[in-house]
Amino acid sequence: MAEKSQQPEALVTEITPQSQDFSAWYLDVVRRAELADYSPVKGCMVIRPYGYAIWELIQQELDRRFKATGHVNAYFPLFIPESLLMREAEHVEGFAPQVAWVTRGGTEDLEERLVVRPTSEAIIGTMYAKWIQSWRDLPVLINQWANVVRWEKVTRPFLRTTEFLWQEGHTAHETEQEAQEETLRILALYKEFSESVLAMPVVDGQKSESEKFAGASKTYSIEALMGDGRALQAGTSHNLGQNFAKAFTIQFQGRDKALQHAWTTSWGVSTRLIGGVIMTHGDDSGLVLPPRVAPYQVVIVPIPRGNWQETVLPKAREIRDSLVQAGIRVFLDDRDAYTPGWKYAEWEMRGVPLRLEIGPKDIEKQQVVLVRRDTRAKAPTPVEGLHGPVGALLDDIQRGLFEKARAYRDEHTSATASYDEFKAWMEGRPGFVQAPWCGSAECEALIKSETQATIRNVPFDSPPPAGPCLKCGQPATVTAWFAKAY
Ligand SMILES: [Zn+2]
Repeated sequence: MAEKSQQPEALVTEITPQSQDFSAWYLDVVRRAELADYSPVKGCMVIRPYGYAIWELIQQELDRRFKATGHVNAYFPLFIPESLLMREAEHVEGFAPQVAWVTRGGTEDLEERLVVRPTSEAIIGTMYAKWIQSWRDLPVLINQWANVVRWEKVTRPFLRTTEFLWQEGHTAHETEQEAQEETLRILALYKEFSESVLAMPVVDGQKSESEKFAGASKTYSIEALMGDGRALQAGTSHNLGQNFAKAFTIQFQGRDKALQHAWTTSWGVSTRLIGGVIMTHGDDSGLVLPPRVAPYQVVIVPIPRGNWQETVLPKAREIRDSLVQAGIRVFLDDRDAYTPGWKYAEWEMRGVPLRLEIGPKDIEKQQVVLVRRDTRAKAPTPVEGLHGPVGALLDDIQRGLFEKARAYRDEHTSATASYDEFKAWMEGRPGFVQAPWCGSAECEALIKSETQATIRNVPFDSPPPAGPCLKCGQPATVTAWFAKAY
């Protein structure tokens, strides 16, 4: 093995094994796959081009879905005057410890301090109060792609950073029922997106009172299970009731001519999803990307034998062009300075779903060799009509990753009504644990302080409680899903 470290292959595959230290593995993958890097600003990361390309694909897929459900994009200011943030009491209390303040502009102290938006309900609610006068102005269905800032003490690239990118939808409706329908429509959209595009299975349900968004009536979430058995809240959708409409005076004249408050919602997902993709699919060789969010779905590695630049390379370019024409994202790695072996390891580490090898012998046989990242299966494939089998393989990889992740999630989901058993499970790598809960915040808080496990949500299709409350022994009202979470 000592010899191995002399070879360039070893350099790119130096990643801490997941079983040894999952957290170190994660940071190694983020850095070595060139997804993100630390910046001179504490708690803020730089998203590098390869990581940003994943975000762009996520954006495109989501944006298409938002527009197909009647939403439009707009942009609101980065700064929020202090007095506006203070309007909704719970909202302020929830966000005050995390906001960054602007107190000076140039050389002058500001008359009113500004916060850098931690979320935009306050500024958007203020504008909606101006724009909404009559029931005819409703619904308002606006989304914003933006950055937000929440002053975090402990940060981790993509999962928790002081500044991050996200989308935030903000809608206003005439009736409570419409607002609730919107809240659930978006939650379903997030679930479909996570599962079909990110190949990341999620549990959808309602958050407990203590875990809901500051100022919301009801918060719903999708929760995914990461490779280390911890849950990741991957998206949230909030029914804000009339709380923000009352705080920001979003009023309209109803069909009955009476003045009333609008019903509003807000919802968001962020660059945290990239962290979710890394931790759902990655392995000891590095990143594994689902084809639908892979910046390169296929990497072509020409085998440099003989006069390859006159023979292999032109054929490789031809293949690249034909695949690109078929709508496949392809990178031809024609770099002279690296061996094929080094390139294989490099692109495996960076998670490219399919590798296409082509050498002089393949050209003689009019074939290429396709190698899957997920199973490492190799298949000689005819060059003629190549986009067909390549497309089919990419679909198969996408489906396979989802099925593998779902099987993992199911294997790591268990149920108990015994607190002793629950505590013992939470010691190791527990995954999700379904348990009966009485609904009290006190039990929830005790469970959290004693085991670090939190209620992730109460799924819509959750079975009736299998016994009394896990913690207090009083009658349980629901079966909640618990996990240790990011
Ligand atoms: Zn209880």
